[in-house]
Amino acid sequence: MMCVIAHPDDECFAFGGALGLAADLGVETYVVCLTDGQAATHRGDAVSGEELGSIRRKEFAASCSVLGVAHHELLDHPDAELEFADFSVIAGRLVKRMRRFKPDVVITFGADGGLNTHNDHTMVSALTTAAFHWAGRVKRYPTMGPVFQPKRLFHATTNFFIPGRPVPLPLPWTVKLDIRAVQERKAKAFRMHVSQGPVMETTRKLFEQYGNEEFYALMAEAGTKPARLSDDLFEGLSE
Ligand SMILES: [Zn+2]
Repeated sequence: MMCVIAHPDDECFAFGGALGLAADLGVETYVVCLTDGQAATHRGDAVSGEELGSIRRKEFAASCSVLGVAHHELLDHPDAELEFADFSVIAGRLVKRMRRFKPDVVITFGADGGLNTHNDHTMVSALTTAAFHWAGRVKRYPTMGPVFQPKRLFHATTNFFIPGRPVPLPLPWTVKLDIRAVQERKAKAFRMHVSQGPVMETTRKLFEQYGNEEFYALMAEAGTKPARLSDDLFEGLSE
């Protein structure tokens, strides 16, 4: 399973349950993060953007390790500026990685930008969705390795909002994951992001109330069929 995110800490607060459950199932996971999070509101003890980026790289690695992520990679696109970046270049980098890693399942944010409606999250959603479809097409990025079509694309969605923040327009979910088995691991991964401590404080109660589930919407899959509800991202996929 490949998970594409915008910032260090997205992997735990948004996808930590799915990543932890996948690791427990023996699924090989790969998280690609497009920025090093230099533009964050909360900056810890960092005196420069560069220093914050370097701190957050280490926090990202520690969090991935807690979640049992097999491979993680942080790309160097400028934080908070993905909407101005070259779409084709970043989509190509994702196509290349999908063709190399050959994930069955790809997960990313929804077009709403997630719980905090971040522009970068919306861009990651669009970029990953394009890359998912283009990875399997011979005419797209012919120099980026042999084509490979991942089987399923999911966008993250939600059953709650953050009070006082702009309200996203989330997708209706098709998958409800019971993440209680890995909930503590998800919280621990979050705690690895020491520089983002204040975010943890402001969202602690919400995650206590709603944090035993994660919600996803199936966005693409081979074949034609009506939408169905599931509790498993890997349902029906063989080895
Ligand atoms: Zn983010």
